[in-house]
Amino acid sequence: MKALVYHGPNDMAWEEVAEPKIKDSTDAVVQIDTTTICGTDLHILKGDVPAVTDGRILGHEGVGVVTEVGSDVDDIEVGDRVIVSCISKCGSCEYCEADMPSHCQNLGGIGWVFGHLIDGTQAEYVRVPFADNGLIRLPDGVTAEQGVMLSDILPTGYEIGVLYGDVSEGDVVAVVGAGPVGLAAIMTAGTRGASRIIAVDGNAFRLDTAREFGATDTINIDEVDDVGAALRELSDDGLGVDVAIEAVGVPATFQTCLDAIRPGGRVANVGVHGEPVEFPIQDQWINNITITTGLVNAVTTETLLGEIQSGAITPEKFTTHRFALHEMVEAYDVFANAVDHDALKVVLTAE
Ligand SMILES: [Zn+2]
Ligand SMILES: [Zn+2]
Repeated sequence: MKALVYHGPNDMAWEEVAEPKIKDSTDAVVQIDTTTICGTDLHILKGDVPAVTDGRILGHEGVGVVTEVGSDVDDIEVGDRVIVSCISKCGSCEYCEADMPSHCQNLGGIGWVFGHLIDGTQAEYVRVPFADNGLIRLPDGVTAEQGVMLSDILPTGYEIGVLYGDVSEGDVVAVVGAGPVGLAAIMTAGTRGASRIIAVDGNAFRLDTAREFGATDTINIDEVDDVGAALRELSDDGLGVDVAIEAVGVPATFQTCLDAIRPGGRVANVGVHGEPVEFPIQDQWINNITITTGLVNAVTTETLLGEIQSGAITPEKFTTHRFALHEMVEAYDVFANAVDHDALKVVLTAE
């Protein structure tokens, strides 16, 4: 089969590799028909994730058809159309039991294994460990393109942004960064009753898109002197927003979130940070604020599927570019230069 293989920093190829086989009795093999590329894949390609080594097939998002199951797979059957969750889980360790499979102890302490510790989904076939727990049947009426946004992007924005930020009825929510993850938080914040969703970015296309995804207000960082002050002004009483979701991963945007929230407010950090941020605890200790961080657990996939079926969320809006699976390298190029191409998610489909 063909797959996208990582060969070290800035070196990858769509090339011939061996087809995956069942290794453990709880495995399944899925023939991928739809996959996409994540910002994390770009970090890997830069060499930022040393656990990913030469020869690894990348990708942790996908929809496909089950072609083979191990003898201990009970729920999933050959022929099932499934979403591959970016988080695998044994289902029985302390963390899985606590609904935090991102730290599954039977997968080396990290549930994100695809395209990281084992071969991933940017391939014609993928082996899925603990298939009963990591595959979700795609219901009739939900398209593969909608479904693939449930592998990672929507649960990440929803769980680590909206739910960790405890977005509640009537809350004013700022989402700092309107890339795919920020847009996922914007799209799902309304399902928790946010009264106002303010998107912050420096890119006009992304801010326009944010409005289509449910933002009620936008702030272009190039048009205001003090973003934190502009956000506080948009809160009902001027004291600050209830929740600020950080969806960039650099010190300045984290600081903007701290500046924007009211006493008792919450910062939900979703961004992947590569350098230290300052936390001015000498100013903040008195403010009764909450800061959360985390890796997605992908335990809300079924909930989000329901929101798609009811029409409350429309994840097909993420797709800006479509490619055939074998055009993977070209798709990476577009996604890596997303701003030049007005790209959000690039979707690849088997022919
Ligand atoms: Zn991802
Ligand atoms: Zn586990």
